[in-house]
Amino acid sequence: MKTYNRISEVRSDLNSGAVSCVQLVNHYLQNIEDKKHLNAFLEVWADEALSRATLIDEKIKLGTAGRLAGVVVALKDVLAYKNHKVGSSSKILEGFESLYSATVVQRLFDEDAIFIGRTNCDEFAMGASNENSAYGPVKNAADESRVPGGSSGGSAVAVQANMCHCALGSDTGGSIRQPSAFTGSFGFKPTYGLISRFGLLAYASSFDQIGPMTKSLEDNMLLTEIMAGFDQHDATMRQQPADKYTTAVAPKKAKFAVMNEAIHHPGVAEEVKSSFKILIKNLENAGHEITYFDFPLLEQLVPAYYVLTTAEASSNLSRYTGMLYGKRSENAHDLESTYTLSRTEGFGPEVKRRIMLGTFVLSSDHYDAYYSKAQKVRRVIQDQTNSVLENVDAILIPTTSTPAFKFGEKSKDPIAMYLADLFTVQANLAGNPAISLPLFETEAGLPMGIQLMGKSFKEQELFNLSQLLIETCN
Ligand code: GLN
Repeated sequence: MKTYNRISEVRSDLNSGAVSCVQLVNHYLQNIEDKKHLNAFLEVWADEALSRATLIDEKIKLGTAGRLAGVVVALKDVLAYKNHKVGSSSKILEGFESLYSATVVQRLFDEDAIFIGRTNCDEFAMGASNENSAYGPVKNAADESRVPGGSSGGSAVAVQANMCHCALGSDTGGSIRQPSAFTGSFGFKPTYGLISRFGLLAYASSFDQIGPMTKSLEDNMLLTEIMAGFDQHDATMRQQPADKYTTAVAPKKAKFAVMNEAIHHPGVAEEVKSSFKILIKNLENAGHEITYFDFPLLEQLVPAYYVLTTAEASSNLSRYTGMLYGKRSENAHDLESTYTLSRTEGFGPEVKRRIMLGTFVLSSDHYDAYYSKAQKVRRVIQDQTNSVLENVDAILIPTTSTPAFKFGEKSKDPIAMYLADLFTVQANLAGNPAISLPLFETEAGLPMGIQLMGKSFKEQELFNLSQLLIETCN
């Protein structure tokens, strides 16, 4: 079967009868089976997907099918889907089934998307390599000795290896964009408040956003449009009606701000730097304006991010006590041992580290030194990011400082792992939208991403600028 990169192609083949939803689902199921060793899926809903495909084939014949008819979607294991298991790749939620669907899941479902399964990720979305999953790492299909990135590594590889048409991920500090960059897809983190977080298993609520991982910009826009818009279940949402995203048209003249550190930082790999410089040159040659700015706060991004997200995580994860959800220790004999043993047995080492770190930075003796200071740093980062954006259309930086690294390369050194988020956390700290575009590959064939960070709630502009970069690289 041909590889579909666009929902519009799927749609036109479905309408002409060249393919059916059942054939599409069977095709993806076969790929999932053939590439099982990549460990992208925690669970595959084969029978259910096939019966839904039959139903949607009928709807297509009747002319009543929704905008996502025949679109086969994989869900990161942090998204609630009614009467289906969800577990944040953690033992603590073993056996837990959702009582309701996340708003995004419901909105895709209502447009006739077909969910094929839930994908592996770092436990509670904490990680940058998928090595923190309780169910084993996911392998990068471009080079199986390398990580797919994290935390949405399973979703990224499901798209990369054609096990679904597209996938959903969540992004707290880069978890959509970084794995998209490592595996060659389009990964988008919307403006904070554009897409409902209702039904997302929380990591750090003032950072978390849900977004699409796709093989084309066009699909990214359509999925964003369908998911976005007010939801009464999420109090942090923008109160305005949903935007409509029209076809992305590259602007004739655009102005980009390039962070000097993105080119000069010692941690940035040569191949990333050289591709990035080629892109800048091409943009300049085509008459677009590039301005350079220093961002001395770069060194503060990762520490501020980890103080604030671990604080929020320690609070969010306090609900997993063995009482209400998932696992309860078999050795528990009273209330306290239920809490202690269920948490000790249920959480993995990275999650424990973050809960302890977060509890520490929130403790009364250290609150001012860490948590409230990091909040102030966050505000300065937001202000500086927005003041750079006042004079340009978007900030242009690589998504990651290196291509996909090898398994084990950073897993023994948490600081090295945290620095993998150098270029992605800014958008979450500031709340701005950011997209990773798969524009380059290394000589060895490893994908590399270019990132555009835009103005709050100006997603259409960001998509137009993305189109410009795509055209510039063609
Ligand atoms: N790598 C980052 C972290 O471990 C980002 C994770 C995410 O975006 N969920 O926190």
